[in-house]
Amino acid sequence: MAKVVCVLYDDPVGGLPKSYARDDIPIITKYPDGQTAPTPQAIDFKPGELLGSVSGELGLRKFLESNGHTLVVTSDKDGANSKLDQELHDAEIVISQPFWPAYMTAERIAKAPKLKMIVTAGIGSDHTDLQAAMDRGITVAEVTYCNSNSVAEHVVMTMLALVRNYIPSYNWVIKGGWNIADCVSRSYDLEGMHIGTVAAGRIGLRVLRLLKPHDVHLHYLDRHRLPEAVEKELNLTHHTSLESLTKVCDVVTLNCPLHPETEHMINDKSLKNFKRGAYLVNTARGKLCDRDAIVRALESGQLAGYGGDVWFPQPAPQDHPWRTMPHHGMTPHISGTSLSAQARYAAGTREILECYFAKKPIRNEYLIVQGGKLAGVGAHSYSAGNATGGSEEAAKFKR
Ligand code: NDP
Repeated sequence: MAKVVCVLYDDPVGGLPKSYARDDIPIITKYPDGQTAPTPQAIDFKPGELLGSVSGELGLRKFLESNGHTLVVTSDKDGANSKLDQELHDAEIVISQPFWPAYMTAERIAKAPKLKMIVTAGIGSDHTDLQAAMDRGITVAEVTYCNSNSVAEHVVMTMLALVRNYIPSYNWVIKGGWNIADCVSRSYDLEGMHIGTVAAGRIGLRVLRLLKPHDVHLHYLDRHRLPEAVEKELNLTHHTSLESLTKVCDVVTLNCPLHPETEHMINDKSLKNFKRGAYLVNTARGKLCDRDAIVRALESGQLAGYGGDVWFPQPAPQDHPWRTMPHHGMTPHISGTSLSAQARYAAGTREILECYFAKKPIRNEYLIVQGGKLAGVGAHSYSAGNATGGSEEAAKFKR
């Protein structure tokens, strides 16, 4: 019987909600490319409830315990002697979400001799040292597509918030002001702007589709070209280099995975090739950007705004400069963990566990590493190696 360790974010300060703002959520059964939403044999939760925090347990306890397995759930994941570290010695499966990642470094993997599978309840497995997982023959799986559309909505919201100067204007209302000139002296229309995505995968393509009705000019950079029909439908300009995309775009959004090839792709040098006053929206991974280069670009005016929800490390320490830099629209990492998304990735995690325990194949589209090498989606989108360096800094966050 297996021991499953599940690392989840803390419950709300006042405890689990006693009631919810809405009574139901739309049930999505298929994604835009035809892939089906998760299909576990059963679920033991009500879609629309909080599942991603410790007491929500991703709705897994009944299923695991009734099959004789042990479930340990904790938010204590960083620093010497964390609960996660204490539980690793006999853990067979570790589950965590990118929002509050269990950084599965080579050191941690070495502390877990029985570890067979690491599951990302969400998308993006860069918090696991994929090379170390390959070396140990550990399977890494994630719930591909579960929250891609959720993130795309956040990207478009953030673009509009930055370009239209929404957040400072909202704050004038809270302060009791009516300071129209203060609000609008940094406010523009999106209409007519050139907007580019770095990567046109599930999120990037969805962002392009959501933006189309705004009458903007759309650009993308990707190693693989989209089908000609899609390029025509959205009137897309394809770029083969970051420099060529950033030279012409007023708004740039990052939608590629973090892996050794993409780490710090946005740095002092690449920022020089942006148009002065460009906006950058990053909901992919904090480490795609050099942290301090972003601050410098906002202070100098090279960037007019930076927004998104991904940081490095997570949780971001209280003194992380992105909390206080000018003209930002940052949130904690929330875009892919709306209540709607949680229902999908909790079901997807259950599906992966059902397959694992029944010794049935896990869907190819959920696989990142299997049998000592990159597999499934992982083989398409990731490069071998490790992007977890520096993650021990997460221990600096004070609750
Ligand atoms: P997909 O796998 O569908 O798309 C990733 C795309 O990135 C692919 O089109 C891939 O290109 C492209 N890509 C990979 N490397 C490069 C590179 N060096 N340069 C340009 N493009 C590259 O994943 P999703 O769209 O669903 O998710 C993308 C990322 O967003 C995730 O990896 C994750 O980090 C992040 N994410 C964030 C969430 C949040 O809550 N904020 C939630 C979900 C995801 P190709 O395959 O053509 O080679």
